[in-house]
Amino acid sequence: MPELNKGAVQRLDAAHHLHPFTDSRALRQKGARVIERGEGVYLWDAAGRRILDGMAGLWCVNLGYGRQELIEAAHAQLQQLPYYNLFFQTTHPPAATLAATLAGLLPGELQQLFFTGSGSECNDTVVRMVRHFWAQQGRPERRVIISRHNAYHGSTLAGASLGGMAPMHAQGGLPLPDMVHIDQPYHFGEGQGTDPDEFGLARARQLEQKILELGPERVAAFIGEPVQGAGGVIIPPASYWPEIQRICRKYDILLVVDEVICGFGRTGHWFASEYYGLQPDLLCMAKGITSGYIPLGAVAVGARVAEGLIDGGEFFHGFTWSGHPVACAVAQACIEVMKQEHIVERVHDDIGPYLQRRWASLGDHPLVGETRGLGLLAALELVADKTTLARFPEAAGAGLVCREHCFEQGLVMRAVGDTMIISPPLVISREQVDELVDKARRALDLTLHTLSNQQGK
Ligand SMILES: *Cc1c(COP(=O)(O)O)cnc(C)c1O
Repeated sequence: MPELNKGAVQRLDAAHHLHPFTDSRALRQKGARVIERGEGVYLWDAAGRRILDGMAGLWCVNLGYGRQELIEAAHAQLQQLPYYNLFFQTTHPPAATLAATLAGLLPGELQQLFFTGSGSECNDTVVRMVRHFWAQQGRPERRVIISRHNAYHGSTLAGASLGGMAPMHAQGGLPLPDMVHIDQPYHFGEGQGTDPDEFGLARARQLEQKILELGPERVAAFIGEPVQGAGGVIIPPASYWPEIQRICRKYDILLVVDEVICGFGRTGHWFASEYYGLQPDLLCMAKGITSGYIPLGAVAVGARVAEGLIDGGEFFHGFTWSGHPVACAVAQACIEVMKQEHIVERVHDDIGPYLQRRWASLGDHPLVGETRGLGLLAALELVADKTTLARFPEAAGAGLVCREHCFEQGLVMRAVGDTMIISPPLVISREQVDELVDKARRALDLTLHTLSNQQGK
């Protein structure tokens, strides 16, 4: 491909490219940001500016950019066998090897793997699996899946329906039937002034109320992210997950954990289910499984559901890219690097606590109402009044103002409303954490300045 300058890339893009999760009219007027290169935790844009990637792409580039081990694994597999499918009684070494490797990393009962191409496909697969499972058990009326408002489970019809994003539901008549939502365990946003553990219990007990309202005989499963990612790095109070687990057991409801973000070391454990002591029946993973170098997802299936599926005749479900050999080879290499470099232990013992300590120091800023985090996930809440914790009016767009100031400082930080969030590569160094936090503080200062000028007008 010929080298194109920034203007040429922007022109082609504006003429022909419809972007995901984007207001296309606004983007075309402004011109897209062009990212050309990555190395370690840094990106370079078309103007040659270096940007610290505080989001690891979309929560996925856990090993950073430019890892030769992953590139070479892809290259070698492309030469050996670039593609073959896993339908019709066939396998290949990368898929079989990766399934066994994942089984070794996963908690307890989760020993069977179904491969997909993405996180959304994992959640579609979950819906197909749990309904097939219950039908197989002679309980076809168990169809309803309970999720949470403001959850994110992807963008396919089932993923977006299980998710609890109101703007997504509003486009296209979602959710699909038999997918219902309870409130999220978001203490800062919805539980201020209450005791966090009481709040966590109350939110978990909405699951029981919903089950009783629907009739337990109709409910197939509950699904949740251990820590909500796209919803704003929402870390539930300690009381929440044990109560959810208890309620699922009481009514014999399958527990599905969506670890698409939390898996592969993000929380300082291979899977956040370990951290929360969860024993899910199904567990979804994607994103960090290949460090984002190539698409792959997998659903881990516990013994009970797996036995049902194995004895259930043909399961009429799968994707052309299920267990793509190149993706499996890259995932295998990614996991090997993580083990060799003790990445999960490092997040747990060293860089995670260091980032959390440094991040918490932003709590003294006049704009910050709360800081929180776990492992290498962190969030802060922008507030108009630090004493009452009152938010800015929505029209002020405080989060977007802050996000733009971050970019100017050479930092990618994401805004979810007025919640600023980070999820940096797991290989980030202490010096780079310092750089991230210093840039975030400068961006907060500039945001305060911009918002004060707005209010003065
Ligand atoms: C990103 C995400 C998904 C969707 O994954 P895709 O690969 O974008 O389809 C699902 N669940 C969670 C928790 C996610 O963060």
